[in-house]
Amino acid sequence: MIEHIRQRIAHAPRIPLGVWPTPFMAMDHLRETIGSSCPRLWVKREDLTPLGAGGNKVRKLEFVLARAMAEGADVLLNTGEVQSNQVVQTAAAAAHLGIPCELFLGCMDPPLSEDEKDTGNILLCRILGARIHLLPPGEDRAAAMRTRAEELKKEGRHPYIIPRGSSTQEGSLGSLSCFFELLEQAVEHDFVPDAIVVTVGSSGTTAGFLVGAQAMRRTMNRKIGIWAFDVFGSEYPVSAHDRIMSHAEESWRSLELPGNCGEDSLHLSGEFVGPGYCRPYQGMLDAVRLVAGAEGFVADPNYTGKCLAGLLHLLRSGVFRPDQNIVYLHSGGLPALFAMHRYFN
Ligand SMILES: *Cc1c(COP(=O)(O)O)cnc(C)c1O
Repeated sequence: MIEHIRQRIAHAPRIPLGVWPTPFMAMDHLRETIGSSCPRLWVKREDLTPLGAGGNKVRKLEFVLARAMAEGADVLLNTGEVQSNQVVQTAAAAAHLGIPCELFLGCMDPPLSEDEKDTGNILLCRILGARIHLLPPGEDRAAAMRTRAEELKKEGRHPYIIPRGSSTQEGSLGSLSCFFELLEQAVEHDFVPDAIVVTVGSSGTTAGFLVGAQAMRRTMNRKIGIWAFDVFGSEYPVSAHDRIMSHAEESWRSLELPGNCGEDSLHLSGEFVGPGYCRPYQGMLDAVRLVAGAEGFVADPNYTGKCLAGLLHLLRSGVFRPDQNIVYLHSGGLPALFAMHRYFN
């Protein structure tokens, strides 16, 4: 089963946008900070992919854009919140491939800061040459994007709408390839992870990791827990559990694996969302500062910082044994921090 999945990834259409593998490092100082009962801690730096300001969407886009280009796309359309990480990585990929990109960005209500429209990710989108349609809070961004796609078609263009978070069947292959890359890096350090800690947004990343973990469980009886922290809460029309499982089962089927994917490896928590998507809280701010001070890298306030708050809670409540190995996936997002400076200052 594992070899079959590896072959499927190896033969899937893919446009190179990254340099792989992304770095994999021990977090020994964080471990010392937590104390003697702390398991061995590692971080996979998926934030260090080379387009835009990096992040986990680059690997998904390698597969998603292969399909877009095969379908003749000559302009990419994407939507997100004003500080979306996904759209920067799309803008960067479009620039890299030499095709135009239009972004439909929604302002926040209340705004994240007085300069949420000028700094952080949106600034990068502008510099990367994307055309930005900035919409007031509450406006239907997806509808505006579809209307624009129709207009472009009438002009004889081939617009391609990148689905939310690039979480499609193709995108899952990207996340699955990240999972296997992480396993290889762990094995180079003489361990198989007991747990991998990830952030749940549109959920394609978690779904890809779950498919990998379930395949390892079925074929090698290796139990790798996927500890997943949701950051959307009730603001997403589909619950985190349901969107993870529908993506995971779809990916399982499209890989033609026997039976169902199932969820025995999944540990999902919605307890670290805080007041809402892109809304900060003290535990997140403390977690970002603690890890920055201990390890010298900075998590973002909207995704990986909330996941870190969840990870620290697990470590402090003694869920893991000191001889276990826990890997934290840093999936990117740093630029959004600059639009939220007032919370850190
Ligand atoms: C998009 C994103 C995630 C979540 O990934 P999904 O595949 O959408 O669930 C996590 N962290 C960061 C920084 C992101 O930008």
